[in-house]
Amino acid sequence: MADRPVVLIVDDAPSNIKVLAGCLKDKYQIKEASSGMHCMEQVSLMPEPDLILLDIEMPGMGGYEVCRQLKSNSQTKHIPIIFVTGNDQEKYEEKGLNLGAVDYITKPIRPSIMKARVNTHITLKQQRDQLLSMATHDQLTGLYNRHYLLHSAQNIISRSLRHEMPLSLAMMDIDHFKKINDTHGHPVGDAVLQQVATLLEENCRQEDIVVRFGGEEFVIMFDHTGIHDAEKKAEQLRRLIEALQPERLVVTMSIGIVQLKTYENNIEQLIKRADVAMYTGKETGRNKVVAA
Ligand code: GH3
Ligand code: MG
Ligand code: MG
Ligand code: MG
Repeated sequence: MADRPVVLIVDDAPSNIKVLAGCLKDKYQIKEASSGMHCMEQVSLMPEPDLILLDIEMPGMGGYEVCRQLKSNSQTKHIPIIFVTGNDQEKYEEKGLNLGAVDYITKPIRPSIMKARVNTHITLKQQRDQLLSMATHDQLTGLYNRHYLLHSAQNIISRSLRHEMPLSLAMMDIDHFKKINDTHGHPVGDAVLQQVATLLEENCRQEDIVVRFGGEEFVIMFDHTGIHDAEKKAEQLRRLIEALQPERLVVTMSIGIVQLKTYENNIEQLIKRADVAMYTGKETGRNKVVAA
């Protein structure tokens, strides 16, 4: 039952945690934290919580401060927080909701109301996660899509420039792909795209961003990588693709490689230069890597 949504219960009183966990443990995987600091630790550990039930009054870091910190961090601000507290004054509730909590529940806990509210917020969270995933991934291959690349690239580029770390990008295009569709049909073409995508994903590092950029075009952003290493990597991928024979067809790719220049603060320029290099590969025989 590893797929059950995860609820993190934060309270300095073990008896409160016990009551809440008792209400929710049938449907959810429960994580516990006995202080604000402990909560911050638990949030950073996998599995990430889908919802946090947060006590307000705790020794050390209190619930409001925990909420403020989680909501101001881009890694954690999407996690819904429900305050669970003995304090039923309007101004405290208002403060909690203004800090970004989705709900405010007062003790004593009424289990059926508690469960219903948790269910609602977990459902909303799952729907939002699904929409986000659909907006950032390509349906056919499961890779990131162009939108995701263009959206996330600016951060990565700025960071690379700031830390003077190299960043390289590969533009990859399947050779004569139209012929595969024309000869074997569109579903075979689709299967080829899926297998090529899987190969690229499986042979890149976790930090590399592998993207289906368009029909039979893929882009890979190689973080912390200079042009020579990117070229080596691309050559390795080119060979693997050539040997893959998806659907028993010989498939090859032409690949253009570029490294970010210090004055080049935009993804479009980088992609454009990679595209030009890739087209040089097309014009000079295909199935090759060309570095700009
Ligand atoms: P080149 O070597 O010059 O790149 O030639 P090519 O045939 O690969 O390039 P072209 O741009 O002429 O054709 C790309 C083809 O990719 C045309 C299009 O129908 C096909 N295509 C685009 N998206 C998909 C898809 O999702 N599935 C399938 N099966 N085909 C697709
Ligand atoms: Mg308390
Ligand atoms: Mg193309
Ligand atoms: Mg092509």
